[in-house]
Amino acid sequence: MRFRLRKGHSPLVSRLPARFVAATCLILVCMVILLAWSRESGNASARDVEEARLESALNGQSNRLILETINQAAKPRSFNSLNSSAPAEDWATERFGIIELANDGNGLSAGPELPADLMTTLAQPLERARQAISQSLRGSIRESQEPNTQVLPEFGSSGYSKIGSHLIAWALVPVRYQAGNGEARKVAILRYEPVDTAFLARLAVEAKTSFVTIDTTPGPSTNLNSFTYSRANTPVYVSWKPDRPGDRMSNVLSAILTSIMALYTGFVAFYMTRRLAESETDNARLAAQDTLTGLANRLLFTIHVDDEIVRTKRNGASFALFYLDFDRFKEVNDTFGHDGGDKLIVSAARRIEQSLRHGDRLARFGGDEFGILQLDITSFHDCEVLAERILNSMREPFDINGQKVYIGISIGITLSSRGTQDRGELMRRADLALYRAKNQGRARFVFFDEAMNSELQRQKRLEDELRQAIKNDELEVNYQPIVTSGTQKLCGVEALVRWTSPERGAIHPQEFITIAEERGLIVDLGNWVLRRACEDARHWPGIKLAVNVSAVQFRHKDFLENIKQTLQATGFPPNRLELELTESVVIADADQAEAAIIELRAMGVRLALDDFGTGFSSLIYLRRFAIDKIKIDRSFVQMMELSNENAEIVRNVADLGRRLGLTVTAEGVEHEEQIARLVNFGCHELQGYLFGKPLTNLHIPALIASGKVRASLELKGTLAA
Ligand code: C2E
Ligand code: CA
Ligand code: CA
Repeated sequence: MRFRLRKGHSPLVSRLPARFVAATCLILVCMVILLAWSRESGNASARDVEEARLESALNGQSNRLILETINQAAKPRSFNSLNSSAPAEDWATERFGIIELANDGNGLSAGPELPADLMTTLAQPLERARQAISQSLRGSIRESQEPNTQVLPEFGSSGYSKIGSHLIAWALVPVRYQAGNGEARKVAILRYEPVDTAFLARLAVEAKTSFVTIDTTPGPSTNLNSFTYSRANTPVYVSWKPDRPGDRMSNVLSAILTSIMALYTGFVAFYMTRRLAESETDNARLAAQDTLTGLANRLLFTIHVDDEIVRTKRNGASFALFYLDFDRFKEVNDTFGHDGGDKLIVSAARRIEQSLRHGDRLARFGGDEFGILQLDITSFHDCEVLAERILNSMREPFDINGQKVYIGISIGITLSSRGTQDRGELMRRADLALYRAKNQGRARFVFFDEAMNSELQRQKRLEDELRQAIKNDELEVNYQPIVTSGTQKLCGVEALVRWTSPERGAIHPQEFITIAEERGLIVDLGNWVLRRACEDARHWPGIKLAVNVSAVQFRHKDFLENIKQTLQATGFPPNRLELELTESVVIADADQAEAAIIELRAMGVRLALDDFGTGFSSLIYLRRFAIDKIKIDRSFVQMMELSNENAEIVRNVADLGRRLGLTVTAEGVEHEEQIARLVNFGCHELQGYLFGKPLTNLHIPALIASGKVRASLELKGTLAA
């Protein structure tokens, strides 16, 4: 068996369980948080390390400057040459300077003229140096190689300062020495060098960072890290291009996690798709099976037909489609209940199955309808053989609850080689042929032919038009007189529905009532007739109103309620209403029918059994149900003249009715001679063309007034049956 996924199923995502979606989202959120956290903490710790390295590199530079200054001071020759050198103009190049630390405290500079902003920066360190050197040389004095020269390294200072647009690094160390003239001098040796690219590069190499800048004012920078470096009260702002190992790590991590996530999602999607496909297949299997017989249902059958169409297109073979429907199955259901009906369906399905060749497909469409796909046929003859086998298989009775039951079957057949390969069209054709088999008298098979098309279309149109006619109040009700047999006085009328289609003219009630019953229109139609009849007959005092009730209508759950409502709405007296039921109504569900009949009688409504003698003729029901009247079917009345046998039937039926205390009405009285006989047999009432054809409501008041019923014959009947 092959199953297909139903078309139009929703996208996978919408079918994923909420739990999975939630879990995936949670994992994603956690991943993002984890990545952000690891990146930030990685970057932060790297920043701390770089800052510490830069700080120590800057310290190192300052220390180097001081050291170089000390070394310089310790070399009197260079010291002397320095002493005598001309002041430097260019602050961008490396220089030494010498500043007098005079006793009076005013720093005089020898060597280069120091600019004011530098002097401001140096004011404090110079003051410290002056104090240290005047306080009889505290601290460790580094003795120079040169006698009479003392350097005080502990009191040296270093820092950064901006001279014009140039940043310089400086260091100064107090020195005492003996000048050439023997005079003891106290000075500070100043060494300075420009913070230029070479300086910064050195710094960067030492601190193992890249792109370092130093400035005396904080420079706004988004992608540089910076910190304040302070030495000798001269703060500078150090910026560098940070190493961001957190970024790198998080990039690598997110690449890894994304791959894992993709794999995970892929796996889950694959798994879910498979699970879905499996459950779809299960559903399809369940949806494709008929629960009662275990056969394929219509859905699966259509799939088989589609497959077969494809196959035969490839290999040029032919197949046939059979539609089957049991004859009068409803009566079995009505007689034996639905359980009995189900048993018959199962047994009959087995028999049909046994008639098939290997490979042929049987399906139950529902109710008592079946379909067969007959494969690889070469001619009509193959179909005929199978159809005959099936018809024959039905000839033996079925056993239902110990009773023998016979059932016929009608079959419609169409061949794939005849003009169409469209599944819908093929099935429609088989259905149409089946319909024809039913019309031709059932228990037979019929092949589809093109001539059937128009008939089906007519049926369909008729149904649509009837629907419209009921809605638009286009139907009419005619009334046929019923007379008492003795005096032949009008005692009642039977309401008979009429439909004249604008296009087709008058349509026989039997035809459109059957359609209404089959297509679920009968309840509306019946209600409409009842209401119209009650409205009309309200104005006809003293006579009864008989209204036909179809079995489908009677079984409808709202039947009683509808009757009550109509009586109430129209104000028609219930004891003048007579409902004509057929035998099939009462035998369908005896208990339910009995309950409804009891309730109707309690309301005062009378009940007649119509067409008596034509149906199952279950005399028992006559006793069981509180029926008021039987109407002997007109076929018996009309055959009465043909043979004495028929006359005897009518006499016996009338006799039976009288004995049971029922009113007996004879239908279809057409001839004068029939009256005497029917009166003789004991019929109470007569109805037939002899007393009047069905008339429009306008004719009835005159009829009542004149009392001369037979005169109505001359009145123009609206429609002869
Ligand atoms: P029915 O209930 O047996 O109604 C009597 C039928 O016999 C009517 O046919 C009537 O015109 C016809 N008839 C009356 N006297 C004679 C006669 O002397 N000779 C002949 N040959 N025929 C006669 P109609 O009106 O065509 O109705 C046919 C059937 O349609 C009715 O049979 C009834 O079963 C059904 N029907 C008609 N109106 C309604 C309705 O409103 N509701 C339901 N459920 N069925 C209806
Ligand atoms: Ca009737
Ligand atoms: Ca009848």
